[in-house]
Amino acid sequence: MKPWRRRFMLASLLLASVCVVAADSRSDAARTRLMKDIAHDFVATARMTGVREMSPAVAEAMAGVPRHRFVPAGGQAAAYANRPLTIGHGQTISQPFIVALMTELAGVSPGDRVLEVGTGSGYQAAVLAALGARVYTVEIIEPLGRHAAALLAELGYEDVEVRIGDGNAGWPEAAPFDAIVVTAGGDLPEALVEQLAVGGRLVIPLDAARGEQELTLIEKHADGSVTQRDVLPVRFVPLVGGGD
Ligand code: SAH
Repeated sequence: MKPWRRRFMLASLLLASVCVVAADSRSDAARTRLMKDIAHDFVATARMTGVREMSPAVAEAMAGVPRHRFVPAGGQAAAYANRPLTIGHGQTISQPFIVALMTELAGVSPGDRVLEVGTGSGYQAAVLAALGARVYTVEIIEPLGRHAAALLAELGYEDVEVRIGDGNAGWPEAAPFDAIVVTAGGDLPEALVEQLAVGGRLVIPLDAARGEQELTLIEKHADGSVTQRDVLPVRFVPLVGGGD
């Protein structure tokens, strides 16, 4: 190879690695800003949600999951913005604050069995897995479910099982669940309440008056009773299926 050619190749290689480092540090700064935005939203909504801040475990999980990997190529610049983004098929990856809030409300501990309905990009499932949960997640749109399963495996989230199907039926073979997180809005599927363990927590956006949804926390108590509390008005894509 001619010397000038070798020099040119070396220079291009150097430039490429400088670009990679720059991109990484940009996303570091963006991630730090996102964590601050999420903390701010917790404080701003605390009177409604009853949750003033993220627990250290949830904060660590949120800070650690690479959201840019769950966002399509066209959305990279906004991957660490505190807002939902489109992931194709008319669906969205949820706003990071809402993911953090739902995770906090689910009260996940390492080793818990957690069901998610609405895999979407796989981001919420990754956050739950980062907390040490064994995650079962159901997606009704096959290409989304397949893509999320491949990505979660590539990123090393081994404790996540993805199933293609209608999450209104839950996942009876893997029940009971210590927590259930539903990331699409609609009516309460009875099967999910049945598959909740005693002491378990179900977080779901339920259809409310005037076409709005209310993020709702449902808890199953030791005496078998089930209580329900409104947490925050939200807007999710619809929970489809369930015999609609
Ligand atoms: N948790 C996702 C957000 C996904 S948006 C994330 O972190 O990216 C909601 C998802 O729920 C969509 O992908 C939609 O296809 C899916 N969905 C809607 N109804 C469903 C159902 N009955 N069963 C399973 N998935 C459903």
